[in-house]
Amino acid sequence: MFESLTSRFSGAFSSLRAKGKISTSDIESTCQEIRQALLESDVALSVVEDFIADVHEKSLAALPTLQAGTNQANAIFEIVNASLVEILGGQARRVRFAKNPPTVIMLAGLQGAGKTTLAGKLAKFYADQGNTPLLVASDLQRPNAVTQLQVVGESVNVPVFAPEPGNAKTSGIYGGNPVKVAKAGVEFAKSKLYNIVIVDTAGRLGVDEDLMKQASEIRDAINPNEILFVVDAMIGQDAVKTSQAFLEGVGFDGVVLTKLDGDARGGAALSISSMTKRPIMFASTGEKPHEFDIFYPDRMASRILGLGDVATLAEQAKKAFDTDTSAKLEAKFASGEDFTLEDFLEQLQAMSKMGNMSKLLGMLPGAGQIKKQIENFDEGEIVRTKAIVQSMTPSERRDPKLLNGSRRARIALGSGRKVSDVNNLVDRFTAAQKMMKQVRNGATPTGMPPGMAMPAMPKVNAPVTKKKKSKSGNPAKRAQEEGQ
Ligand code: GDP
Repeated sequence: MFESLTSRFSGAFSSLRAKGKISTSDIESTCQEIRQALLESDVALSVVEDFIADVHEKSLAALPTLQAGTNQANAIFEIVNASLVEILGGQARRVRFAKNPPTVIMLAGLQGAGKTTLAGKLAKFYADQGNTPLLVASDLQRPNAVTQLQVVGESVNVPVFAPEPGNAKTSGIYGGNPVKVAKAGVEFAKSKLYNIVIVDTAGRLGVDEDLMKQASEIRDAINPNEILFVVDAMIGQDAVKTSQAFLEGVGFDGVVLTKLDGDARGGAALSISSMTKRPIMFASTGEKPHEFDIFYPDRMASRILGLGDVATLAEQAKKAFDTDTSAKLEAKFASGEDFTLEDFLEQLQAMSKMGNMSKLLGMLPGAGQIKKQIENFDEGEIVRTKAIVQSMTPSERRDPKLLNGSRRARIALGSGRKVSDVNNLVDRFTAAQKMMKQVRNGATPTGMPPGMAMPAMPKVNAPVTKKKKSKSGNPAKRAQEEGQ
């Protein structure tokens, strides 16, 4: 979403870095360039003006204190980063839990903003942390909204309170009244000891009085701990206008930005928090239940500035690699044992759990510069590679040297691939294995094996401190390993 903004920021800073000693006029021109980039990304004018004034003032104030020879451009970069974090809301804020459960979370927003999808994501998010959420279907307006919530609830294994069919022509025990459904849902949660209630409410295609009235009535009936305003980041400047209308009409405590995976210019994300003085609390980046996260202003700023989002990447890797697998790989790596195709298969399986590879690669620092490669990343490559490794016997996976011509032909047949694909994988694996040995022995690796879908490294946070311990004490053996 922020590609063009990221490349503009990178451009502005690479020319600033090239200067060495920075003058006030360099600061003026950098501010001018950033201003233009923000405006072109649809950031609200008042937010841009405040941001630029802040960066300008702080940079000028810092300039005399920056010693010649220090990296002045980096100091200015830090100022921009800090201001960006600020306009994105400062610190991440979590949902406030009620002293006496259940904690009631009400979702509000326009139709199509992604409320129902988000309801499921939030439910999963909290259930995964050991909570007992209940979903309440109070969107009786949009055809199929109730059924959709039931499907979503089922997919994340969270119960749905849906006494009304949600079809305007028929109504259930609450006479098709969404306010009564919301109230009954909260009562039900209390009686059944659910500790979180997530209430999905109706939206309209545009902001209108009926919508505000209904949302306000639901709010008054259930007295939520948090009202989250859900907004589609793809609608650009309109997202800011809509959020302001909701703020006046219903009020809300936090914002959820959806569809951040889209290719809109990202102005909404940068404007909403400043314009509404409410924090962005969650961000949604796809339709699937796990494509969602807490919104961290500092990580978002980091991404916008082209530094990537390594913190999120590491968290996702941690979730995907179970502790046993990671510990086993770490121990192997440290003890100097060979990294085998069996380990590689475990990694491939964990990588599939991490989700869409292009999205993950996009979190790497400098991802903007390899945008084309990331876009062209063939997600099927992992599945195909897995099929090849799975067609090998356990002893072949442990010792690829066993793989003679006839075995390779059998594997190709078993995985539905060509023998040349099997050869290719074995070659790349052997090269990766060699590279790992070099890393383990403290040597600089001679480069990533060409064409390896992903480097066959044990895990993202490999135990760097243990590297040296694993060096062979036998110089002849070490020389032999390094030479391999
Ligand atoms: P509601 O009317 O506010 O309840 O909106 P829905 O939850 O039905 O979402 C509207 C559409 O947007 C659906 O097709 C969702 O699958 C899709 N959607 C929701 N969140 C996201 C997201 O973060 N990214 C993408 N690409 N699509 C989303």
